Amino acid sequence: MTDHWYPAYIGLGSNLGNPALQLETAFGLLSEIPWTRLIRRSSLYRSEPFGGVEQPDFVNAAAALITQLSAGELLRELQNIENKCGRERGDVQWGPRTLDLDLLVYSDHEIDETDLIVPHPGISERNFVLLPLGELAPELHAPNLGRIASLDTHISDLAVSRIK
Ligand code: ATP
Ligand code: CA
Ligand code: CA
Repeated sequence: MTDHWYPAYIGLGSNLGNPALQLETAFGLLSEIPWTRLIRRSSLYRSEPFGGVEQPDFVNAAAALITQLSAGELLRELQNIENKCGRERGDVQWGPRTLDLDLLVYSDHEIDETDLIVPHPGISERNFVLLPLGELAPELHAPNLGRIASLDTHISDLAVSRIK
C-alpha cells in the first residue's frame, strides 16, 4: 500500500460459460478491490481467439482504476478475482478461460520482474486490447508505447467488433 493514488488499466477477457456475464461480474469485483476505485469501464468487444488454439470467441473489455496498491499487490487482487470466477490455474496460455485479467498499464511505471511485466507486452499487437483501452484513454502515453490512440489497430488481422 502506498499513500499515492496511481492510475491503472486492466484488460479483461473471457471465452467460457457466459463471457459477457463473466465480465459483468468481473467489473463488480474490480469495484470492490480494497484501496482502489473503478473509474470507467469500456464497452464489450467480441474477438477471434489469439494464439492458434481452437476455442470459442472471446469477449474483451478494459477498465480504468485508481489505486493505492502497488502493482504487485494489484496483480494479486486480479488473480484472486480470476480464481473466484473459476479460472483454472493449469489452463494453457492463450487457451480458453472463464476470466483473464491483465494489468496493462500502471501509472508511468516500467516493471520487468519474473511474474510481472508492465506495460503488458502484448498491448501493441493486440487489437482486442487496443480498441477497449483506446476507448477509455486515447490520450494515455504508456512507457515504451507512446500515445495509445496512435498505435496501429490493424497490425493484427483478428476480427474485433464492439457488441455492447
Ligand atoms: P498473456 O500475458 O500473453 O496475455 P495469459 O494472459 O494467457 O498470456 P496467464 O496464464 O494469464 O497468461 O498469466 C501467466 C503469468 O503472467 C501470470 O502468472 C503473471 O504472473 C504473469 N504476468 C506478467 N506480467 C503480467 C501482467 N502485466 N498482468 C498479468 N499477469 C502478468
Ligand atoms: Ca492475457
Ligand atoms: Ca493473464
